[in-house]
Amino acid sequence: MEYPDRSGWALDEEHQRLYLLGVGHVKLRLHRPLGGEAKTCTVKREGRRWRVTVFCTGVPAQPLPSTGRVVGIDLGVGESNLVATSDAELVSGPRPGRALGERVTRVSRELAGRRKGSARRRKTVQRLAALRRKEARIRRDWAHQVSRRLVDAYDLIAHEALPVANMVRRPKPRPDPDAPGGFLPNRARAKAGLNRSIHDAGWARLLSFIAYKAEDAGRQVIAVDPAHTSQRCFACGHVEAGNRHASAFRCLGCGHEAHADVNAAHNVLRAGLARRLEREAGSAA
Ligand SMILES: [Zn+2]
Repeated sequence: MEYPDRSGWALDEEHQRLYLLGVGHVKLRLHRPLGGEAKTCTVKREGRRWRVTVFCTGVPAQPLPSTGRVVGIDLGVGESNLVATSDAELVSGPRPGRALGERVTRVSRELAGRRKGSARRRKTVQRLAALRRKEARIRRDWAHQVSRRLVDAYDLIAHEALPVANMVRRPKPRPDPDAPGGFLPNRARAKAGLNRSIHDAGWARLLSFIAYKAEDAGRQVIAVDPAHTSQRCFACGHVEAGNRHASAFRCLGCGHEAHADVNAAHNVLRAGLARRLEREAGSAA
């Protein structure tokens, strides 16, 4: 007997009873709890017994044992390129290394001096591409390591939702003809915008790595509204831009002091736990 969809059968996991259309209620022994969403049900005779097989989708592939721990993460902006957690862990960003950076600069300069269409130019292009691939690999490895550590350590990971505005293309920076390497101001403060979007691409990748590893492991990931997470005092809730001085947080309301990014990570976690409560209340209703 096969039920190709959700109609015609119902499983009561709590009481270990199965209802089958045309048969009625039968008792069964459930070997393990269903994960994910049940899709189909097959009933087969095995000697004197019947075997019921339920296919589910969205089942974690490699569920990890619960750790009982939850975390909020703050994704830094600017050169520090830092992930701060509500457990006061500060993770520095990917470091392709100065030597590699210098080689990229040197080979780029070499390239500028090569005659177009020449064999030497083609070789230089290949060398530059290889260096860039190496840089990209270092960044990707970093994102894999950080996401792995977080998913292994925590049952729930709350992070700021990346602003949608950053997904939209920004105006291109206009090079300043009078200052080589400089940029004229334009609508989006071009250079800052450019750096920012490269930065956000890195964060988007980290978050997507966290998301798929978490799904595989049966962990929960919650994105929260980033508004005020860096200006709000975690201890008393006071929101003021002056609470924050670079990497230091000192609340003008209550005097609470913390690393600014760790304070923000606490706010992210609190918002994430609130979202989880809302969701659970929503699904129970
Ligand atoms: Zn405070």
